[in-house]
Amino acid sequence: MHELSLCESVIETIMDNVRTHHFSQVRRVRLTVGRFAGVETEALRFSFDVVARGTLVEGAELELLEEPGAAWCFDCSETVPLMDRLDPCPRCGGTRLHPTAGTDVMIKDLEVI
Ligand SMILES: [Zn+2]
Repeated sequence: MHELSLCESVIETIMDNVRTHHFSQVRRVRLTVGRFAGVETEALRFSFDVVARGTLVEGAELELLEEPGAAWCFDCSETVPLMDRLDPCPRCGGTRLHPTAGTDVMIKDLEVI
């Protein structure tokens, strides 16, 4: 379950921020979740709660924003929107695609006190 290690690094990054800026509590965390990141939303929420326990992030509201996928097509030399990582190019039908967006889970912002 890579959601757990993902959450560990997310919370680690948040805690670095919290320490640097001397925040006392994190109330809300917004994450962008790429379509191609291969992340289960429910598993992500569960892992987040588990990893956040006992930290200043415990009890924070987790908001997930889906990031659409896009890829560079080697056949038509264009960046094209892509619904599924394994789909062919919607423009030319080519299959030599390199994902350029929607591959990661990233922290968008935090609400803190
Ligand atoms: Zn193409």
